[in-house]
Amino acid sequence: MLKIGSHVSISNGLLGAAKEAQSYGANTFMLYTGAPQNTIRKPIDALKLVEGKEFMSKNGLIDFVVHAPYIINLASYKPEIFELAKRFLGEEISRTASMGSDYLILHPGSYTDMDLEYGINRIVEGLNEVINNDTVPTILLETMAGKGSEVGYRFEHIAEIISKVNFPNKIGVCMDTCHIHDAGYDIVNDLDSVLSEFDTIIGLDKLKVVHINGSLNKLGAKKDRHANIGASSDNPKGADYIGAEVIFRIVHHPLIANRHFILETPWLDKKTNLYKEEIAMIRG
Ligand code: FE
Ligand code: FE
Ligand code: ZN
Repeated sequence: MLKIGSHVSISNGLLGAAKEAQSYGANTFMLYTGAPQNTIRKPIDALKLVEGKEFMSKNGLIDFVVHAPYIINLASYKPEIFELAKRFLGEEISRTASMGSDYLILHPGSYTDMDLEYGINRIVEGLNEVINNDTVPTILLETMAGKGSEVGYRFEHIAEIISKVNFPNKIGVCMDTCHIHDAGYDIVNDLDSVLSEFDTIIGLDKLKVVHINGSLNKLGAKKDRHANIGASSDNPKGADYIGAEVIFRIVHHPLIANRHFILETPWLDKKTNLYKEEIAMIRG
């Protein structure tokens, strides 16, 4: 069955998140355990987990995935940032397990003043200190656009991290369509080659979640600005360079069936998003 949904808010707990997802016609969803930019978190027992799970099972919501906050930077050479990243990742892993989700999505990190090889090795070091054989959720490293000093804009970076960690079976991948397009992978004209490259370098068995976003920028722009699916220039957020037809082919591609497909497309204003319309369009 096609599993499709969007990012939803945790501000009213898992119950609120599930209700929001249901209002979009989703059967899965993604949440942050609190604000993506900070480490302030409510205690687990304030998240209405029992009510949320009950609502989910009654409304055909299969499961959900969790996204770790952006402030976790395992590639940092600065001791205080690296320590915070490890500590908070450990807490997010426990929260994800307690909430009953199998997947925790993580941006690999940014090496800032160091270099790519330093960043990759630092991420490996951090993951090795946090992950052990008893870690419950699979940590999904997200493919990045390559802005600034981000690690993970080439499939090779992610493959190298997986090959160097102590528990590669605990690591998977979240592929973001906006990010790989901005990184230079031509999913518009040659989707099958991109998927086959992913398979050769990382292995499609590692792919668990796909973030389905349009892009406001051209192939290889290294920007990371999401567009609404198939948006034209009259959309207030701007036109999409990827296009609805490409996203449709990704979601229905036989090689990546049964993954979680999650929208992170822009809101038009504080109250309006297009998740419901986008989900309906992508279902076909
Ligand atoms: Fe992300
Ligand atoms: Fe993403
Ligand atoms: Zn992004």
